[in-house]
Amino acid sequence: MKKPTIGVLALQGAVREHLQILEACGARGVALKYPAELRLCEGLILPGGESTTIGKLMVACGFMEELHALSRAGIPIYGTCAGLIVMARRITEGDQPLLGLMDITARRNAFGRQVDSFETDLVLEDIAKKQQPFRAVFIRAPWIDEVGPEVQVMGEFGGKVVMAREDGMLVSAFHPELTGDDRVHRYFLNMVEEAS
Ligand code: GLN
Repeated sequence: MKKPTIGVLALQGAVREHLQILEACGARGVALKYPAELRLCEGLILPGGESTTIGKLMVACGFMEELHALSRAGIPIYGTCAGLIVMARRITEGDQPLLGLMDITARRNAFGRQVDSFETDLVLEDIAKKQQPFRAVFIRAPWIDEVGPEVQVMGEFGGKVVMAREDGMLVSAFHPELTGDDRVHRYFLNMVEEAS
């Protein structure tokens, strides 16, 4: 397969680490600042950061409609942490701009103050088995309270859904770009290859 171009929305948040791991996986990672640049992309990553800020900047910079069009065109989109929140159709509290692409309900900062940030080993469907779990980094992470019937649960922690997929849309509550383990990015690149 030719080198796929994957955009990483670069309005706010953890952009550089995604670009690095994409390059390490043999893809071309591009930091996106303008909606017109979405045309270059065969896949898109919405990074972690602060979802209220990212959502407001998406509206201000004219990304909302373009991202809906991208999703309708079947371009795979992967949201990590704050990216998961903006991809959700519903959040449990508050009012902030959401793309609302995926049939999930996200709970922001769900793991509470005492465990703002932590790492744990996860089993992830189709990605990481029990013998070789995925080291997942959670930073003021959300979890998923409800999933719609078309949503595949791919990972759970403490009985809470922390990774899921619906067609060309993938979300994780944790940050896979912060460890050397590239299995989640490779899984996403596989989705991109299947879609193209
Ligand atoms: N707590 C952030 C939010 O609610 C998400 C944190 C992250 O992306 N690491 O937007």
